[in-house]
Amino acid sequence: MTANPHPWELPAPERSGKPSLFALLPEEFEALKAPGRADHIFAQTQHPWAWVEDRPRVNRAIREWMEAHVDAVLPTPVERHTSEDGSTKLVLELSDGERIEAVHMPREVRNPRVTLCLSSQVGCAMGCTFCATGAMGIRRNLTAGEIVGQVLVLLRELGPEQPHQITLVFMGMGEPLHNLDHVHRAIRVLNHERGLNISTRRITVSTSGLVSGIEKLATLQPRPWLAVSLNASHDEARSAVMPVNRAWNLTRLRQALDAWKPSPKEKFTFEYVLIHGVNDTPEDADRLVAWLGELRHAHNLNLIRMNEHSASTFREPQEDRLNAFVARLKDQGCFVTVRKSRGRDVQGACGQLIRP
Ligand code: SF4
Repeated sequence: MTANPHPWELPAPERSGKPSLFALLPEEFEALKAPGRADHIFAQTQHPWAWVEDRPRVNRAIREWMEAHVDAVLPTPVERHTSEDGSTKLVLELSDGERIEAVHMPREVRNPRVTLCLSSQVGCAMGCTFCATGAMGIRRNLTAGEIVGQVLVLLRELGPEQPHQITLVFMGMGEPLHNLDHVHRAIRVLNHERGLNISTRRITVSTSGLVSGIEKLATLQPRPWLAVSLNASHDEARSAVMPVNRAWNLTRLRQALDAWKPSPKEKFTFEYVLIHGVNDTPEDADRLVAWLGELRHAHNLNLIRMNEHSASTFREPQEDRLNAFVARLKDQGCFVTVRKSRGRDVQGACGQLIRP
């Protein structure tokens, strides 16, 4: 690889030795002496509909500059699996042949909205025992260019064409806070007013509870909203299903969250994957209410049925136990949503994504 000429400004080079076009911010086009107004070139290349197949609609001078200075290779969609619920899982191949999965989930509400579930790593190092990605181990981080490219390809293939209809969730393969530098640069690009301009209120980073990453993200701008997977109500059970809890237990996790300074209207989201016979007792519900009750900041709680897959012996909860769990939470004043998993039939739901 060639040396990065501006290591203090530019994203790390891709395998080609050049920085990714999709990870550059407008001022960095200037640093690379792009021919023309940097914000125009940024806007042209950040809109997926401005691309014809893999070539942007830009003039010849910019195309020649691109060939010399940047890596403009988008991930290649190699498989498409559409669920009966309307969501679609795309398998994307990266420049080194690694593959990731990303999920496009349209919602039929008054105004159409689409949630894109993004991957941040090939595999994952966190080893959560209910998760198919965790069973694979980690292969590598995605670069910022690959993360932005993932968004552009999903939008180009499946829409929507209106950026204000897009919600991004980093809930696919990987622990995003384990790859925070690249994830955050991607967020800066996707949030930029001259690009897709996706509000940080519509970008959620979901963590398994990597406290060092939470503390770093708390200091960054722009800052996305945070979701935390809890999945157990006490340390022993949580350490068994989420090894990260051995390094940062529930008390330490709450300290990190209490230190976060939320913006107006910002709320944390907590996810609790309900697993049959593991974390679905009335006592679990009581402990969960108590833990959440001690938090300083506003939050929502989502219950998710365990999505079964071949890499785990865990089973989804029985319906009567799920209903009793929800009732027990609500009786104690806890606001809870039972989240409907999307794409289960195409192995595209929470905890089911793998490196194909
Ligand atoms: S649940 Fe998330 S953090 Fe845990 S192993 Fe799976 S992808 Fe990694």
